[in-house]
Amino acid sequence: MPLVLFVDMDYYYAACEELRHPEAVGKPMIVGTGDTAAKMSGVVESCNYEARKLDIRSAMPVAQALRINPDIIYIPADHDYYDRMSGRLMEILKAFGYRMEVISIDEAAVDLDSMSYEQGLVQGKRIKEEIRKTLRLPCTVGIADGKVLAKIVCDSAKPDGLKLVERKDIVQFLSEKSADKIPGVGKKTAEKLEAIGIKTIGDIAKSDLVSLSSAVGSFGFELFQIANGIDESRIVEHYETLSVGRERTLDATKDVQKIYLLLDELSEEVYREITKNGFRFRTVTAKARYSDFTDKIKSKTLGYWTDSPEILKQTAKALIRELIEEKPIRKVGVRVSSLEMGNKQMKLF
Ligand SMILES: [Mg+2]
Repeated sequence: MPLVLFVDMDYYYAACEELRHPEAVGKPMIVGTGDTAAKMSGVVESCNYEARKLDIRSAMPVAQALRINPDIIYIPADHDYYDRMSGRLMEILKAFGYRMEVISIDEAAVDLDSMSYEQGLVQGKRIKEEIRKTLRLPCTVGIADGKVLAKIVCDSAKPDGLKLVERKDIVQFLSEKSADKIPGVGKKTAEKLEAIGIKTIGDIAKSDLVSLSSAVGSFGFELFQIANGIDESRIVEHYETLSVGRERTLDATKDVQKIYLLLDELSEEVYREITKNGFRFRTVTAKARYSDFTDKIKSKTLGYWTDSPEILKQTAKALIRELIEEKPIRKVGVRVSSLEMGNKQMKLF
C-alpha cells in the first residue's frame, strides 16, 4: 500500500464565489442552480460555513434555504468558473511531480509511494500552502496508507485541516466512525448493515465475511478490508470524472446560424483548454437554456478518444440541433468529459 495524500477543497463552489464576492465572506451564502430570476425553483449546489451553521445543505431546495434565512446571499452557479479553477488546482498538484488521480472537480489523490510519514506531512503542508497562496482557496489534506483510507482521514479533518494517520493507528481511528464514512456506503448500504447490527466501522471490523456478504454482497469483502486498515485501491491516472465546459448567454433566439456560431466559439475555447492540458475527450454534451429558464442537455459518447476541434464542433452542433425547439434559446453550452491524457501511450516507451 503506497502512502496516499488526498486533497479535497472545502465548500468548493461557495469558496470560489467568496473570492469574487468579498461581501459574502462571513455571511451565510448559497450557490444555486439557475439564474437569480429563477432561483426559487432551484436547489442549493454549495454553501459556505456560515450557511451550514444554519443547517443549510447541498441539494436542499433554494426556497427552503430562503425560508430559514431570507437575507441569505444567493449566487447563481457558474460551472465554467469552477472548471477553470479546478484546472488550475490540478496543475498545481501535477507540478509536485507525483502520480495522481483526479477524483472529482475538487478532489485528487496523490501517490507518495514509499515516502515516510514525516516527509508525507511536510508535503501535505507544502501542498496546502501552495493551493492557499496560488488559488486563495482553503482545502483539507488527509494522508494514510491507501486512497480510500486517505479520503476518510481527509473527511474527518475538514475544514482547512491537515491530518495523517499511521498504519499502526488506523484501525483504532476508524473504529468509532459510522459505517457510512466509508466511500461508497450510501443510505441503502448503511440500512442493510444496520439490519445485521452494524453501525460503526469498528462493528464491520469485528464482523465476519459471511454475514457481511449476505448483507451487502461482494462489497462486504472490501468493507471488511477497509475496516481492518487494508486498502488495496490503486491510484489510476485517468481523468474520467473531469470535464471541461463553456457556456454563454445570447439574446433569446431560434436562429440556428446564430446558435451555431456561438457554439463554435465555445467549442474552440473548450478545445484550447483541453489541449493545453494534454487531454483527449470521448463524450460531448450540449446544453440549451430556453427563454422560460428550463434547461435541456444532450450527450454523445464517441467510440474513441480524440482531440480534434472539428469533431468537437460537429458533434456539439448535431446535439444542439436536437435541442432547438419552439421556444427561443437564451444560453448554450458545450462540455467534454471522459478525458484521458493524450500522451499516455508515449510514456510507455
Ligand atoms: Mg470538496
